[in-house]
Amino acid sequence: MSPLLDIDEVEHRYRDVVALGPVDLQVDAGEFLVIVGPSGSGKSTLLRLVAGFERPTTGSVTLAGRPPRPGRDVGLVFQQPRLFPWHTVNGNITAALRWAGVPRAERPAAAASLLAKVGLGDLGKRRVWEISGGQQQRVAIARALAARPRLLLLDEPFAALDALTRERLQEDVRGLTDTEGQAAVFVTHSVDEAVFLATRIIVLSDRPGRILLDLPVDLPRTGVPAAELRGWAEYAALRGEVATAVRAIQPS
Ligand code: ADP
Repeated sequence: MSPLLDIDEVEHRYRDVVALGPVDLQVDAGEFLVIVGPSGSGKSTLLRLVAGFERPTTGSVTLAGRPPRPGRDVGLVFQQPRLFPWHTVNGNITAALRWAGVPRAERPAAAASLLAKVGLGDLGKRRVWEISGGQQQRVAIARALAARPRLLLLDEPFAALDALTRERLQEDVRGLTDTEGQAAVFVTHSVDEAVFLATRIIVLSDRPGRILLDLPVDLPRTGVPAAELRGWAEYAALRGEVATAVRAIQPS
């Protein structure tokens, strides 16, 4: 079976700067891929290529067999929620549903279901400034899911949140790809976040980013409480392996 996402021998340059590659990477439906790498290693460039905002200088990127269409084929979540401040929570989700082509009559039920999915069931009528940063990021995730994308791209989405809020969001996001065959590509600087969320971790080198480590993570996705899982010996061993790879990166 062909992969959902196929990054085939991709290199990307900005004028004379080689930002990324060559990178060869395939992601299947259901995978939760986490990318770890130093600043400037091309992580955002990789996400922009997958979102269709950039075309690779060499090689090809295909999603379900076609070049990704910008703003259409993937759901995007950034470090800042980037919500419409003049809309309510519901208004933000409804705007995304409209953009995704969901018929008007179906939008209220679809919005309610998305908000329930991210744990915000009763906050639909609130204004964006009336909810916390963590809740705003939940709205951003619900909005990214509105078009039912096969692939969700998350670029350091929890970096600006406090530790407790971050852990709660990690626990909720971890389950997102377990249903409906969606896949996620998630960028982080946190080794611990990578091990907790991933079914597979990629460590990128310094610029131009190349794959230094491609590590499957075989921790249970359901049935073990998060706090317990974080204390497992296998969890610590994976964290150690990724941290060692990250520490070994030589600045270019
Ligand atoms: P990361 O997300 O890992 O920090 P980026 O993908 O943002 O890395 O950047 C990779 C490299 O490409 C960096 O050296 C950066 O300076 C360079 N770069 C990124 N975007 C541009 C651009 N639009 N024009 C020129 N250089 C860029």
